[in-house]
Amino acid sequence: MNKAILKLIQGNEEFIKETLKKDSNFFEKLSNIQQPEYLWIGCSDSRIPADKITNQMPGTIFVHRNIANQINPLDFNVLSVIYYSLYYLKIQNIIVCGHYNCGGILASILIAQKKKKFGFLENWLLPIKELYSNNKEIYKHFQENDLENISRQLSELNVLKQMETFEELTLVRQFLKETQKTLNLFGMIYDVKDGKLKLLKERTLYYED
Ligand SMILES: [Zn+2]
Repeated sequence: MNKAILKLIQGNEEFIKETLKKDSNFFEKLSNIQQPEYLWIGCSDSRIPADKITNQMPGTIFVHRNIANQINPLDFNVLSVIYYSLYYLKIQNIIVCGHYNCGGILASILIAQKKKKFGFLENWLLPIKELYSNNKEIYKHFQENDLENISRQLSELNVLKQMETFEELTLVRQFLKETQKTLNLFGMIYDVKDGKLKLLKERTLYYED
């Protein structure tokens, strides 16, 4: 067998063994229904698997990941995930999680500063490039080439921006109106340097006339 895939298949066998050691009915219980408590909208970055970094078992977190954890109202993928989470999985806790040292955030800054090109990816990163260009006062005390500090600020700002977008989505407003339920929206940021997950902002959403 191909070595690359063998590594994953062996890893899967170990995962099954270890999981059954802790709970012999684990897979049986999960097989019929999924009732996750959380929706996680995070970055595709391989260093940030939602359930691993929060020490949760499969079945707890419904996940959507894309480059730089964006909620773009033109993206049917993220909208479908949100729709399914709210109406069918009945999830009430939504997490938008960004991270420091994000390649997507760094690329957006370099595109905006006209220092590097990223080809097709520039389409996807356009909203973040604009977020950088429209908020220059936030980074004015940093040198233009201080990418580490600028990108930290922009990673946080991006999470807050995505939270705003979530709140404004027609489908979210419609859901709140129809069901009169509340939703808990959390903006979080993960530091790949020390593995720490931090809460940036918390909002309770409900229908308002
Ligand atoms: Zn990232």
